[in-house]
Amino acid sequence: MIRASEACAQIREVALGRTLGSESVPLSELAGRRLAEDLLSQECVPHWDNSAMDGFAVCADWTQSATATNGVRLPVSASIVAGDSGSLQDRPGERFAVEIMTGAPLPHGPWDSIVKIEEVQVLKGVDGAPSEIVISKPAKKGDFVRYQGEDFAIGQLVASKGMLVTPDFILAFAALGIHRAQVFRKPRVAVLSTGRELVNAHEPLLRPGMIRNSTAPYLEAALPALGAEYKWYGTIEDDPEAFKRALTVILADSPDVVLTTGAVSMGKHDFVREALESMGARTHFHKMAIRPGKPLLFSEFQNGPVIFGVPGNPISTAVGLRFFVTPYLRALARLEKERPIRAKLFKNAPKPEGLRCYFKARLDLTESGSWVEALAGQGSALLGPLLQANAWVEFPEEGSQMSQGEWVDVHPLFPSDKPWVFSSHSKDSSMMDPKLTPREIPVQKGCC
Ligand code: AMP
Ligand code: MG
Repeated sequence: MIRASEACAQIREVALGRTLGSESVPLSELAGRRLAEDLLSQECVPHWDNSAMDGFAVCADWTQSATATNGVRLPVSASIVAGDSGSLQDRPGERFAVEIMTGAPLPHGPWDSIVKIEEVQVLKGVDGAPSEIVISKPAKKGDFVRYQGEDFAIGQLVASKGMLVTPDFILAFAALGIHRAQVFRKPRVAVLSTGRELVNAHEPLLRPGMIRNSTAPYLEAALPALGAEYKWYGTIEDDPEAFKRALTVILADSPDVVLTTGAVSMGKHDFVREALESMGARTHFHKMAIRPGKPLLFSEFQNGPVIFGVPGNPISTAVGLRFFVTPYLRALARLEKERPIRAKLFKNAPKPEGLRCYFKARLDLTESGSWVEALAGQGSALLGPLLQANAWVEFPEEGSQMSQGEWVDVHPLFPSDKPWVFSSHSKDSSMMDPKLTPREIPVQKGCC
């Protein structure tokens, strides 16, 4: 039985030996895609110095003598709103305030700070417009000024190759005028369910012994969240010939990955490995020292897709997807390996000796540090605890129990391309304090 670390190394090596093509995609279609290029800013943001507040632009030096009882008075001789250019009529040597609205460019000249409208006394002229202000405390150079390029400078790295574009990136891309980007073609994942007992969610359970296919809809939801395309090829009964026929159809569509569920264990109907090998696939490994998901199979057609055969129990499928298929997809996009979060175990947790475990877990980031609990109900068919979980906890192969207070690796339910603050490498955080004691972890159904 292969160890998980060795399996992951093989998976990564196979992925790095393959490439996904790339394509240029407009901004409106970028969300959910993986970048095939580093994106550098061609413009700076803000594009020019501008006001962060509605108020008055002044020169801080002019206001230094201001006090509550003896305010500095300045005439208001101009007004700038967002969309104006910031150039004023030349009046060399004249001291005056400029009425300014949020986002409007700082006027060119001595004006270097903004006083907020709420903080000055405004005197109005006959036309109702501000004619003079009284400033009651000194302004500081730069007060409420947003400087050119302070958010993004020209040439700055905005997003790196491999990153999954999320809506927060779209916000920055649009602000920077990045309206197209080169992205990897989405890896195409062909999913084939096996099991004569399976019926679809919308169908009646016709006879005793039938269960619903929960993992195909799960994969349909999860794979796009990983940046992949999902195509389901239906459910085949436990018949190797039907499996081979379905696989022939799948291979004709040239997917990048085939993901089969079920029929990889030791049972009477577990034919997937043999059927694949009879069609020319090379088995990299079958059966891993893990729980759940031990019978996982990884194989490859030389000029075709890789195949992950995950066991049919839903949590085994979820673990196969999260810890083995996901790293494959990430390596295809040339992403770094994920780094786990570190947390302390909230209470003792039994585990099978010799198996690396991926358990449904609840992570709690408290003021006394990060605590994680392996939830009750780790059976690979038990779905309820997954709804209580907000993370996976990983236990090493060695030992038959993990002890309260031990540091363990924790993974988000879905990978985040942005590093966590509480990474395994942060040594200076309060969560390292050995004196800390766990507190009750509140569990709320469906909340994370
Ligand atoms: P198998 O890996 O084929 O031996 O299946 C293991 C268990 O998972 C059996 O109880 C199956 O009925 C169940 N199972 C298989 N496929 C699915 C599926 N797509 N959705 C839900 N349960 C499944
Ligand atoms: Mg089966």
